[in-house]
Amino acid sequence: MTREVRVRFAPSPTGEPHVGNIRTAVFEWLFARRHDGAFVLRIEDTDQSRKIEGAVESIMESLRWLGLEWDEGPDKGGPFGPYVQSQRLDLYKSVTETLLKADKAYHCYCSPERLAVMREEQAKRSQPPGYDRHCRALGDAERRKAAEGGAVPVVRFAMPVEGTTVVSDLIRGNVSFENKLLDDFVILKSDGYPTYHLAHMVDDHHMRISHVIRAEEWLPSLPRHWRMYEALGWERPLFAHVPIILAPDRSKLSKRHGATSVLEYREMGYLPEALLNFLVLLGWSLDDKTEVMTVQQMSENFSIERISKAPAIFNIEKLDWMNGHYIRAYDDETLADALLVYWRSYPPAELPLPPEREHLKRIVPLVRDRMKTLKDAAPLIRFFVAGPGAYGAAELVPKGMDAASTKRALEASLAKLNAVKGFDAKALEAELRPLVEELGLKAGQLFGALRVAVTGLKVSPPLFETMEVLGRERTVKAIEKAVTEL
Ligand code: GLU
Repeated sequence: MTREVRVRFAPSPTGEPHVGNIRTAVFEWLFARRHDGAFVLRIEDTDQSRKIEGAVESIMESLRWLGLEWDEGPDKGGPFGPYVQSQRLDLYKSVTETLLKADKAYHCYCSPERLAVMREEQAKRSQPPGYDRHCRALGDAERRKAAEGGAVPVVRFAMPVEGTTVVSDLIRGNVSFENKLLDDFVILKSDGYPTYHLAHMVDDHHMRISHVIRAEEWLPSLPRHWRMYEALGWERPLFAHVPIILAPDRSKLSKRHGATSVLEYREMGYLPEALLNFLVLLGWSLDDKTEVMTVQQMSENFSIERISKAPAIFNIEKLDWMNGHYIRAYDDETLADALLVYWRSYPPAELPLPPEREHLKRIVPLVRDRMKTLKDAAPLIRFFVAGPGAYGAAELVPKGMDAASTKRALEASLAKLNAVKGFDAKALEAELRPLVEELGLKAGQLFGALRVAVTGLKVSPPLFETMEVLGRERTVKAIEKAVTEL
């Protein structure tokens, strides 16, 4: 590669960033890391009507949470700032002036009414929609007259009227567009703000972007940008348009299919490593089989050549599987810390007071395998902190037993538990297992009753380990309480 690699993530601050946008950022970030390049964050806020308060913060929060740190950006600065488009309006104006002077662009005075009539006519005649170039043909006198009339013009780029524009894309190869289907689009609006078409390419040029990696939806606009680079005599960056992400039913991914924003996934208890790993596989692969990868593996191997042309499918079951995998790979300490951080941001109703860190470290191995997300933990471990939840006598009495025999079994267990030396899982099992036979019960009966007594749950972490972590005092107290219930 001859040029220094510089890529940018250029979101519009129109809400919480969508997983699709962030997947593009993942590709850009990995590409930059792979080539020791720069990853630039640029905020594209030229459409002021769509701007949402707090969106820039959500964008940064999403990137940070996934570990996609940027090298230059609005908060960090850098050699080519400012990194917010609304602070660069003079630059877009001066480029527009250059294009006007070179007759590559022109003022258009057409009123919204005229444009509406034009569109209607085009539709009636089944003509392709697009500006009819009315103002491109105006003479100087007509222009002066329109300007004196007070109409505030927009500026349009003068596209070639005939022929084709062949663009090249690193993923799609060469793509040819017929110029007659591309109209003279607006580059500067009457409010003095540029459109995306102008602003992004001016910035990409001035920020020395080497590779524009962006969503496939922009590919049809590429011939317009291609011609603008030509008109300005600027060297083009290389382009890579990444495939769209579809829902499993192959429709556009939307709210209807579940969460769409990255921060929602965080709230649902997904780990950043898992989401990152999942996102990188939406349209890229290391080889034909590897699913789980460390960030290092991704950044050492990422290449545009392995980005697929086909749409990627967003399969939430795969994300769940991936998340479970990462949770199981966490050691006790890491998982305990992840839970404490998670609960601080999203306090769970089940756990008004989370366990102490040291206590939690002993609890997590008991529940890890039952967790798909961090959110699953609180209901599973509530009883470790708050004692067994409410249960009825009916739940306590196992199948084939009655209240009296259950009571006898629990009392016999209490005698053993009070006497046992040491209170570790092994000793507890050695003490309680023989009791099954002594009492003429099935293991499921005795341990089922003990389980409900100790945890309040029918399904819980392993019984003896749970008792060990609870300790003798709390275990005995819980069983005594159960006896009084019967
Ligand atoms: N602001 C555009 C968007 O959010 C950026 C597209 C691009 O990467 O050029 O879709």
